[in-house]
Parts: sequence; structure tokens; C-alpha cells
Amino acid sequence: MTKALTIGTATAQPGTIQYGRWEALSHPTGHAEFLPVIIAQGAADGPCLWLTAGIHGPEQAGPAVLYRLITQELVDRLKGTIIAIPALNPAGLRTNQRQPYHADKDPNRLWPDGKPDKKPDPDKDPPTSLERAYKRLFDEIVACADYLIDYHNAWTGSISFSFRDRVLYRADQDAEAHKAAAEAIAAKQAEMLAAYGHTVIREFPTEKYIDEDLHRSTSAATLFLAGIPGFTVELGTGHMPDWAIVNAAAAGTRNVMRWAGMLDGDTEPIEGIKVVDAGFPVRRCSTPRVEEACVVLHLVEPGDLVQAGDPVAEVRDVWGRPLGEGVLRAEYDGFVMGRSHGIYYYPGDAVLGMAIRDEAPLVAPYPEDFFKE
Ligand SMILES: [Zn+2]
Repeated sequence: MTKALTIGTATAQPGTIQYGRWEALSHPTGHAEFLPVIIAQGAADGPCLWLTAGIHGPEQAGPAVLYRLITQELVDRLKGTIIAIPALNPAGLRTNQRQPYHADKDPNRLWPDGKPDKKPDPDKDPPTSLERAYKRLFDEIVACADYLIDYHNAWTGSISFSFRDRVLYRADQDAEAHKAAAEAIAAKQAEMLAAYGHTVIREFPTEKYIDEDLHRSTSAATLFLAGIPGFTVELGTGHMPDWAIVNAAAAGTRNVMRWAGMLDGDTEPIEGIKVVDAGFPVRRCSTPRVEEACVVLHLVEPGDLVQAGDPVAEVRDVWGRPLGEGVLRAEYDGFVMGRSHGIYYYPGDAVLGMAIRDEAPLVAPYPEDFFKE
């Protein structure tokens, strides 16, 4: 028996792909903003996998993965249901901007955080239409999702990788039970990441992570508040999709479906992209940083393994003459996620996105004051 599922105007029909609209918000000009919904359901029952993309306008490889992935040929072999939303932020996609023109906040920091509803405060902006829409969509995801993948792009030239969120739990009177549940979710998430098969990089440690509102991303909110294993993938350059990465992401997603029992057959090889393993767990970090205004000529490529002390860039003045020692050295062991943009740097600018050794626990309590008003 397959599941009866309706999202917006799309209703699952076993063995087919259904298309529909989910009404998100109204514009003051009378126009309605809908999110496009795709429901692909196999003839046989199985898990429900949500695939979301297009929350940041310039990041257009994720929607491309969904367009390549969801085919009748896939549905003919599928057990269970894929619910895909290729455009979580249509306004951003229209204008090629990270934020929608009608809500001036990073949309991937607007999902529920589990705190009680705040009392209206005349000095604070109430939730935007988009934040309210995501709250409603969140409830629809939680009602049926077994797993979730949210597709993004990091920056120009960055490697393809998956972000592993830490799993936060409430340290209340039931802390031990919450911790055990969080560890079980983290274990499932690890299996899912391994099935996807791209480079895995952990998110920031808890304090910085919450400072940046990353606990309110699509994948973190569904992971923490509903225990749905999932992750965010970053697909290299967003404004010029790299088809090798797009194809490797589609293959990785089918491998997740195999792991989840939604497809039969052997794991597909992940080809055409760098998959990097430092030999130890890594997290993201912007490093090293320049001390003075300078020109930077990078000496390393995305995906390169580096050790602390290795030269990673030449440092010059605007005439091209070496400054000081003439090189900037890595501060940590790890590998290069990607170079920072351009060659002209102000003091304190980081020249690389690096994956460095992660010392922080993967399962951690929320900060003590998190749920306090
Ligand atoms: Zn993004």
C-alpha cells in the first residue's frame, strides 16, 4: 500500500510524477507566490524522501540536480516517494539574489528553532511572510518525511561536499534520553552521508553555529526538531553549474535511496569530482587570514591536502613585489574547500575556506539559556 500524500495541489499517484503548487504567500500587488512541488511515487511502498533546493537565488546547481534526477525511468524503479521543491525562494531565483526582495533576511535562517512563540514586541519586526510560510511548510515536511537533503552551492570553485550538522539536544530533566535519541539520529545521518559519498565537512562548533542562526537552516531544523536524518549539500559554483558535480550529486542521491531501501541495485560510483578525506574528522574554517592589505596569489587548489606551515599563497604589494616573507602559510592541517574570491585582500581577510581538524562533539546540548526568553 503506497502512502496517500498531498502537498499543495499535487497528490501522489503511484508509478507517476505529479506536479503542483504550494501557496506560500501573497504579494501586495495581488500576485500569489507559490513553491513548485514535484511528487514522484513508486508503485511499491517505501520511505518518503524530501529534496529541497533554490533557497538562495544564485545557487542554481541544486534545482538542476532535481531536474536531472526525477525521471519516469527512476519512478519505474522507485519504492516510496520523493517530494521535491526546486524553488524554496522563487524571488531570489528571479533576481539572482541570496535574499528575497520582500524579506531582507537570509531565508535559510528562517526555519523554526523550537522556541516558544514570542510575544509581539513593538520594537522587533514580526516574522516575515516567508518565515510564516516556512513554518507551515515545516509542519508538512515533519508530517511525512523520513529523510531530507537540501541542495546549495558554496562559492565559485569550491569542491562538492556535504555539511554535517551537529545534533543538539535539550539538557533538561530528560537530558540522558534526549542525548541517546540525538546519538541515534547522528548515527543514521552518518550512514546517509556515507551513502551520498561526497566529501563530508562538519559545521561550526555549537556557539558559532547558533550565533550564525545555522540551527534554523532547512536541514538543521528538520534534524533537531523532528529527528529527520538529513544534511545540506554544497555543489561548488552556483551561478555556472558544474555538470560533473550535478551528475555526481544525482548519483549520490540515488545511492542514498539505495541505502534507504527506495532503489535496488549496487551503489553507483561517484565520478568526475574530488572526494577528499583528511584521515580525521574536519569542520569548516576561514583561514589563514592576511595581516596587512595585500595582493594574494594562491598556491593551492580546492581539494588539496595541506599541513600547518605549508605555503598556501604568495603575498605581494600592488606593484607585484613580495611582502615580508612573500608567502602566507597554512595554520592548520586539513584540506582546501575553496579559494576566497579575487586577489586583493584587506587586513583580516581569509584567503581560503579550509576543512580543519574537528575537536568538538557531534552531539551536544543546546546552550543553557537557549530556550529561556
Ligand atoms: Zn546556500
